[in-house]
Amino acid sequence: MTEYVIIGDGIAGATAAQTLYQDEDDASITVITDEREPLYNRINIKEYAKGKMGEDFIRMHEEDWYDERDIDLMLNTRVWKVEADDNTLVLHNGDELSYDKLLVAAGGTPRDLPVPHSDADGIHNFWTFVDSRQIRKDAEDSEHGIVVGAGLLGIDFAYALSENDVEGKYLMRGDRWWRYAMDEEGAEIIHDELRDAGVEPVFGEGIERFEIDRMGRVTEAVGTTGERYDCDIAGVCIGLDLNTGILDGTPAETDEGIIVDEHMQTDDPDIFAAGDITEFYDVLIEERNINGSWDSAQEQGEVAARNMAASATGEEMETFSIVPKYSVSHFSMPFMSLGSPTKGEEYVSRNYGEKEHRRLAFKDGRLVGAVLIGNVRPVGSLTKVIKEGEEVIDSQDALLEERIDLDSVLDS
Ligand SMILES: Cc1cc2nc3c(=O)[nH]c(=O)nc-3n(C[C@H](O)[C@H](O)[C@H](O)COP(=O)(O)OP(=O)(O)OC[C@H]3O[C@@H](n4cnc5c(N)ncnc54)[C@H](O)[C@@H]3O)c2cc1C
Repeated sequence: MTEYVIIGDGIAGATAAQTLYQDEDDASITVITDEREPLYNRINIKEYAKGKMGEDFIRMHEEDWYDERDIDLMLNTRVWKVEADDNTLVLHNGDELSYDKLLVAAGGTPRDLPVPHSDADGIHNFWTFVDSRQIRKDAEDSEHGIVVGAGLLGIDFAYALSENDVEGKYLMRGDRWWRYAMDEEGAEIIHDELRDAGVEPVFGEGIERFEIDRMGRVTEAVGTTGERYDCDIAGVCIGLDLNTGILDGTPAETDEGIIVDEHMQTDDPDIFAAGDITEFYDVLIEERNINGSWDSAQEQGEVAARNMAASATGEEMETFSIVPKYSVSHFSMPFMSLGSPTKGEEYVSRNYGEKEHRRLAFKDGRLVGAVLIGNVRPVGSLTKVIKEGEEVIDSQDALLEERIDLDSVLDS
């Protein structure tokens, strides 16, 4: 019997467990998580924080789900380190657990702001269901809020403020929201949406420190410009540090993430990784990539599980390759990011109307990513073009047409 151990019960780890259960007759499967609850829909915790969804819509697995599949689920259990020499994990309580094949699907930990009082009550990261419950509770009692982190998580926190009738200020160090993927024209559409929602974008501003009351609760944020902002609640959404430390001292190489090849395998043949935590070889852009999206994590979990099983029997491994999609549903129009829109070397964009915009990212003449605002109908065609990997930079005008003639783009 092959002993499979999975660290992390997010969508990557849980999908891997399900895949092993379905495909392998002779497997012992253990899933370890430091969270207190089994898999939930991390995407939808923003809807919970907004007050738009109840707990039942967020939960995905009950503990029974694991029992029924004979999967050993260990909640509230932190993996301290991996002893790769003897295929063993050391847990926070000193217990040890052996494995034949290990999947590290441990995601990341939100970064804290390195400023005074950033740990005060009322200041939140936005990553777990526990965070989301606390944000909703605090937001209901708050009048003024601030958000830092001009990316996809920050915007979720901004709308959690808006939906709870908190007057918000969104502090951005640069001159626009998600500046690594968006140009000024596209970002301006989002800034207007924020203003309509009662959240004021403030550019060229960071946090110098927070002020607190005698109870240790945040009362004000002091900006790097010296401006002071009332705040009873604050969101710090400035990115994740990937939890690679578990593999320190093992042959598995780590950098920002865990380095895996296109099979999700590390330099240690018994250790695989999947989900947000990986720095994977992306066959679509032919370089290492990091992708923080649900569909990518899910697919990586599935591919990693099949490849762990294949490596145990010497069979051929399969290649991970998808074009991830990330939708933002807070706005009055659709918004979608596709592929790797921050990885471009050349960009082209077009505005089609007041709230309609498209920006395309090219690398080595090939389309590698896109941001679509207002009209997301071209998503199918653009996904196909990214997947095909042909040089299409000369067809940029055709790719910016409102309706893309896919055959002519690919034929030319
Ligand atoms: C508010 C919010 C909104 C989002 N919206 C979208 C969206 O609209 N679209 C989209 O595509 N993506 C979205 N995402 C991102 C998406 O949720 C993630 O990319 C995805 O959930 C990553 O899954 P994962 O399994 O790789 O990691 P995770 O879900 O982070 O799971 C990793 C698990 O491992 C556990 N763990 C870590 N270290 C240890 C250890 N040492 N021992 C034991 N357990 C450990 C963690 O506690 C965690 O439970 C959103 C995320 C958030 C927070």
